[in-house]
Amino acid sequence: MQKGNIGVTTENIFPVIKKFLYSDHEIFLRELVSNAVDATQKLKTLASMGDFKGELGNLTIHVSLGKDTITVSDSGLGLTAEEIDKYINQIAFSGANDFLEKYKNDANAIIGHFGLGFYSAFMVAKKVEIITKSYQEGAQAVKWTCDGSPEFTIEETDKAQRGTDIVLYVDDDCKEFLEEARISALLKKYCRFLPVPVAFGKKKEWKDGKQVETAEDNVINDTTPLWTRKPSELKDEDYKKFYSELYPMADEPLFWIHLNVDYPFHLTGILYFPKVKSNIELNKNKIQLYCNQVYVTDSVEGIVPDFLTLLHGVLDSPDIPLNVSRSYLQSDSNVKKISTYITKKVSDRLQSIFKNDRKQFEEKWNDLKIFIDYGMLTQEDFYERAKDFALLTDTDSKYYTFDEYKTLVKDNQTDKDGTLIYLYANNKEEQYSYIDAAKNKGYNVLLMDGQLDIAVVSMLEQKLEKTRFTRVDSDVVDNLIVKEELKGEESLDASHEEVLSILFKSQMPHMEKAEFHVSARPLGEGTAPVLITQSEYMRRMKEMANIQAGMSFYGDMPDMYSLVLNADHKLIKGVLEDEDKACASSLTPVQTEMEQVDSRRKDLRKQHEGKKEEEIPTAEKDELEALDKKWNDLKQQRENILSGYAAQNKVVRQLIDLALLQNGMLKGEALNNFVKRSVELIK
Ligand code: ADP
Repeated sequence: MQKGNIGVTTENIFPVIKKFLYSDHEIFLRELVSNAVDATQKLKTLASMGDFKGELGNLTIHVSLGKDTITVSDSGLGLTAEEIDKYINQIAFSGANDFLEKYKNDANAIIGHFGLGFYSAFMVAKKVEIITKSYQEGAQAVKWTCDGSPEFTIEETDKAQRGTDIVLYVDDDCKEFLEEARISALLKKYCRFLPVPVAFGKKKEWKDGKQVETAEDNVINDTTPLWTRKPSELKDEDYKKFYSELYPMADEPLFWIHLNVDYPFHLTGILYFPKVKSNIELNKNKIQLYCNQVYVTDSVEGIVPDFLTLLHGVLDSPDIPLNVSRSYLQSDSNVKKISTYITKKVSDRLQSIFKNDRKQFEEKWNDLKIFIDYGMLTQEDFYERAKDFALLTDTDSKYYTFDEYKTLVKDNQTDKDGTLIYLYANNKEEQYSYIDAAKNKGYNVLLMDGQLDIAVVSMLEQKLEKTRFTRVDSDVVDNLIVKEELKGEESLDASHEEVLSILFKSQMPHMEKAEFHVSARPLGEGTAPVLITQSEYMRRMKEMANIQAGMSFYGDMPDMYSLVLNADHKLIKGVLEDEDKACASSLTPVQTEMEQVDSRRKDLRKQHEGKKEEEIPTAEKDELEALDKKWNDLKQQRENILSGYAAQNKVVRQLIDLALLQNGMLKGEALNNFVKRSVELIK
């Protein structure tokens, strides 16, 4: 029997392993089973080259549980005593402490950097044995034992079969790993697609109402998962079936991309476009990353472009340096190449579906949109590819590419400055009347109701030349696209507009966080009597504030709306006429007095023009002050008369409510009052 010290410069590596790698304890199983797979593959390679002439036999790897032990057994190439010394005892350590300090939160980094794969056994075991017999002829079986101190023993032993058993004596605080269900789950997570059969216990079957073990090994893995097979041999059903095995709860995928590259890096995999149920949280981290069929992680950020982390599926590459920190990953040139490659593959696939089967592409667009939008927003090179197949949808559910849409609207929707105006709605139902008005004017209206469309609108305004987006309800239809300089609006005199404004403003129901500016404009007899619009600018500021930090100033402001009265409409004209009849007698004296006050005020001000403050007699200053006060009183009187009248006029309230109703803003008590009033008006 030989005794010795494991060659580490750190006094004792095992406490370090335990302490720093605590959160990732479970990966010991992946490490040990992967080693067993490697040993098996190496033996197969030796056999295929004629360097091993014996029987390969059954190469299944067995994982088994004892009372306090976990054993991983393989029939691979085994180890001689010299090899144990070389590969297990001498762990080359340089700058170990520095490295451990730097990566103490990243178990994979430590393990990979030092080839600590095997030593991860000490994360869960207080003692580890290697019982192994090399494939070489006449090899002596040996047993290596280590109890977690840098001391080990190595001795000759009896072992009939070629291969290696790794026996872990599980630590008291890691007893969970002795549970069948736990190991079963771990094997499923890490070993599901390993290329060598891995058995955990025996298959069970139901017999006489009980589960009984059969003689057959319970193999837990699929040794030739779909991505390792040739695309030409696979059918759609195979891809769908594989998808449903990976994500049992998910809907059928929209389509998939089978990746297979050998140069300049190795990458295989299948990426699926999932069907996303609208408005549920998008799930990142659904792509599983493998390294030669060994599961590594489901966090692929940094390896694939951000927008593609929304896809599902598997990637397998031995060329991704998995054992380094995430920030290092992003600067790794292989990773960059892989990321670019995947982006290109995804856009090529989309492009080809678009070209070859536009109908299918359009049918799936609503589901695809989120990925493509996200990609265009976050990845410049993807935008460059996607701009040829990304679609815009109009309110009649027709689809256009960016170019097609430009051609469609450029004649009719270019304003006086040569800017193309893209009209859009973000709610087909709520903005129905605005959409209708725009369409009647021969405009096309886009539907931008996607989760990312606020951002898409801004992006397109930057990317597309001389193009601006305007929401259909941001102004009255005639002003949406200004084709010639506005002529002065003559048909309504200022005092009438003021009266209308006072009448309607006084009857606006109070609303939380909403403010209305009331104005009257001649909009033509055929147009609705009352419209509510919201300025594109203010609305966008608020929308941006909702998604961007540091803009809460806009976010806290009330919504600003315009209530536009159509002075050409007979109901509005009727209100004015009726008001005149009802209020003339009480208003005329007030108005006459106001005129007198105003003309006296003007006179005084005229006299004061050009004079210095001290040159004006005090009496005149006092008079002016009194006049201002008087004026305000009279104004208030006038407002009281008008609002008193307005409160009696059911048409005013009714018109306001109709406009609110049309915009989904009539709620609660106001809605209730509206219904009651409507019934009265019908009677
Ligand atoms: P790595 O696998 O990264 O080389 P490990 O610490 O896991 O690092 O293993 C060190 C070496 O021990 C391996 O390279 C291999 O030569 C040997 N080894 C580990 N497990 C086995 C096994 N089950 N059968 C044969 N050799 C093994």
